[in-house]
Amino acid sequence: MKNIGLFGGTFDPIHNGHLHIARAFADEIGLDTVVFLPAGDPYHKDPSRACAQDRLIMTELAIADDPRFAASDCDIVREGATYTFDTVQIFRQQFPAAQLWWLMGSDSLMKLHTWKKWQTLVRQTHITVAMRQGDNLNQTPRELHAWLGEALQNGSVRILNAPLHNTSSTQIRQTLQSGRLSDDLPPQVARYIREHKLYQSGK
Ligand code: ATP
Repeated sequence: MKNIGLFGGTFDPIHNGHLHIARAFADEIGLDTVVFLPAGDPYHKDPSRACAQDRLIMTELAIADDPRFAASDCDIVREGATYTFDTVQIFRQQFPAAQLWWLMGSDSLMKLHTWKKWQTLVRQTHITVAMRQGDNLNQTPRELHAWLGEALQNGSVRILNAPLHNTSSTQIRQTLQSGRLSDDLPPQVARYIREHKLYQSGK
């Protein structure tokens, strides 16, 4: 059976933490491919953020070296708000015989019970969680307790063993806005940001 990994995010911008967990995801689960899915633009655009097209290009630049990685504009071209539930239906239909795995950070897991049709979603895709600094699985919200306990037991939720990589797009945008460079950016992405003057303060 084909094992397909899906990795949704804002990727504003994509950073080494994303690449680190995506590699661990592919290695530890034994995935054939990991599809990066940059989110579409929110209704109210924020000028200090990058648009979907730039975020998709930066994602493509960042993943170019790993043949297991691909990028999809699936969440960008859909009209209106996009939900993970709908994204998973699209991949389910496209790859009916594959096992789908969804990658998320532990901060996203803590909010999973607020996602559209989350209980159906977790039956249609396995979930892999990358821990983030400061998060503790014992502090998951009450609504998730029973499901998470069982899912960890039956293997439909896996926690990555990869060491923590403590960075975020928010930290990187702040570093760039103060005129400094960030070590957590892949060099091709840093070059694209410089050339296109993204994330400059006051923009
Ligand atoms: P922001 O700071 O803008 O919220 P982010 O760095 O969290 O951005 P996203 O694009 O929102 O990046 O992340 C996509 C997914 O990757 C989320 O599920 C998030 O939890 C996870 N993630 C991002 N960075 C890391 C990291 N350093 N370690 C583990 N998971 C991460």
